[in-house]
Amino acid sequence: MALRIEAVPCLRDNYAYLIFDPEKPEEGAWVVDPGEAAPVDAALAERGLSLTGILLTHHHPDHVGGNAALVATHGPLAVLGFADDAHRLPEITQRLPASRGRFEASGQTICGLPLETMHIPGHTTGAIALKLGDEVFTGDTLFAAGCGRLFEGTPAMMHASLQSLCALPEDTRLWFGHEYTAANLRFASSVEPDNDAMQARAADLPACTTPSTVALERATNPFVRAADAEELGARRKAKDEFRG
Ligand SMILES: [Zn+2]
Repeated sequence: MALRIEAVPCLRDNYAYLIFDPEKPEEGAWVVDPGEAAPVDAALAERGLSLTGILLTHHHPDHVGGNAALVATHGPLAVLGFADDAHRLPEITQRLPASRGRFEASGQTICGLPLETMHIPGHTTGAIALKLGDEVFTGDTLFAAGCGRLFEGTPAMMHASLQSLCALPEDTRLWFGHEYTAANLRFASSVEPDNDAMQARAADLPACTTPSTVALERATNPFVRAADAEELGARRKAKDEFRG
């Protein structure tokens, strides 16, 4: 078993992700959060892969917008998302359980690995993280050096969700939903001007910054580093108004 994950840029700054086993290309690929179908189709064709299924972190259109077209082209497909948010997830076929605070086996297997889920409300109330081995898909809850806007959840929810994600081992890879890292680090450095790790990260950013790691986020993410929900809420509000 060899798991390969490849970022597929979608829309303006979204990432979908292809997941496949390069030693078993006949088993096809899964895609996480296809905001649109065309770039996913192109990425599949380039690698000679069929599409097996879709995994969803949350219901926003820039994460599920490609579902209908992909099902129409490649279907029938398995479409997996959080059971409690199923009413907002187009084309869903399999409803995943998820609890707050810890990853749990979902009963599904992807590329030979058990798919684990955790409920991470904050950006939306129905957001989940998806875990395969040491690879975690965080959607719009945790970004590199940032977190999602609190559209539905509270600062307390976001604080707990980020702490649960960053309680994982330090080398766990975190694959996030948008390329916002450069702007996030400008804000981060305004919050912690003496944080050398933030400055070092900002000085050496590749064009595509996904994935991050738990260690990097603990060192440079001002929302992960917030002492409590109140501080996280104040930082999130400041970020919403930040022009840097
Ligand atoms: Zn979103």
